[in-house]
Amino acid sequence: MDQTGLHIANDADGFTETSGLSFEGLRQYDSEAIAIEIEQCDDALHFLYAEKIVTAATTFLSKFNGTSLYAAKANPHPAVLKLLWKTGMRDFEVASVREVEQIHALLPDATLYFMHPVKSRKAIRTAYALGVRHFAFDSLDELRKIRQETRNAPDLALHLRLSVSQEGAEYPLGNKFGATLIEAPLLLVHARQISEKLGVTFHVGSQCLDVTAYHTALKDIARLLEGAGLSVDMLNVGGGFPVAYPDMPILPLPDYFDGIQQALTEFGFDKLEIFCEPGRALVAQGGAVAVRVEMRRGHSLYLNDGTYGALFDAGQPGWNFPLELYGGGRLGKSDEMALFEFYGPTCDSIDKMSGPFSLPADVAEGDWIIFRSLGAYGYAMQTRFNGFYSETTVAITAETTSD
Ligand SMILES: *Cc1c(COP(=O)(O)O)cnc(C)c1O
Repeated sequence: MDQTGLHIANDADGFTETSGLSFEGLRQYDSEAIAIEIEQCDDALHFLYAEKIVTAATTFLSKFNGTSLYAAKANPHPAVLKLLWKTGMRDFEVASVREVEQIHALLPDATLYFMHPVKSRKAIRTAYALGVRHFAFDSLDELRKIRQETRNAPDLALHLRLSVSQEGAEYPLGNKFGATLIEAPLLLVHARQISEKLGVTFHVGSQCLDVTAYHTALKDIARLLEGAGLSVDMLNVGGGFPVAYPDMPILPLPDYFDGIQQALTEFGFDKLEIFCEPGRALVAQGGAVAVRVEMRRGHSLYLNDGTYGALFDAGQPGWNFPLELYGGGRLGKSDEMALFEFYGPTCDSIDKMSGPFSLPADVAEGDWIIFRSLGAYGYAMQTRFNGFYSETTVAITAETTSD
């Protein structure tokens, strides 16, 4: 470290060598304020916090009674994927051939699970050739594609995606994919014939605030299997593990793990191979995004990033995030707070975040607003629409003040 607070991660840097659990290849700073000052970035600035990600990953790896897969779409930054690998994560859930190729190239020994129930033929072929054996499906058509494109491979692990209730989820994912309980028996019978291992998977919806949603889904699966006289080898309870955002209190992760374990025992699933697929819960706390105020008009702030950038969740589901203002040397300016709405930089009028968001009343052009808990579905969601996007991600080593 030099006097400016900038660390460059490389082999000669003691920090990298001694901790072993820092990000590779990122510039590192002691604080967000130092990063903002030194980077002089004209776009949004993405921050990553190694310790938060290591803590979340360690919780899943040590407390979830089964195999935890990282749902790579939540944040596919290479530094995040490598850090998770260093923490001990060996299994990754992917949905596209690009995710397969990216992770295969970065982490050649990782086990990949291609869990999108509708894949292109070429994607299936490419994935199989790269060593992927786990595939999801929710129809006979997809099963046929998998069988044909893997040339009747004898070593497939197939997961039937079931459609389950999304009632407890703040961000439902249910209506698009998944076989119904009525369709499932026939699909399982067919899949059994072409798979070495057969499983069932579901997703209760993202940011699931209802612990019992997993119990309900597992109960439906138990009824389904019993009613049809079928059995499976694997059960994948998907993602949906929540993160504490403002106004959205949650139960701790171990409560979710206990609830799932109780249901597995209750329905006689303990002997099966069990998986979960956290995305948000692994990386949300591990990232933040700083955006600059380009103009203030009354209580509207025009920002250099928005819903086509890293702030989709602040605009579309309209969530709030822990915010901090950095106004040239001071974190938080005035003590007096006021409510604001935000506009993103693109010309589209839906590039708006209604909030209302609470900030110091004297926020002004040139100030930076730090959106915390945006390590999931922030960096991952940005588009290049209208030429606004950020390629700058740096690591922050200091303890953050709020979660
Ligand atoms: C998005 C997704 C996940 C991760 O969901 P989170 O709510 O972020 O935990 C897991 N599995 C599948 C199939 C997904 O589509």
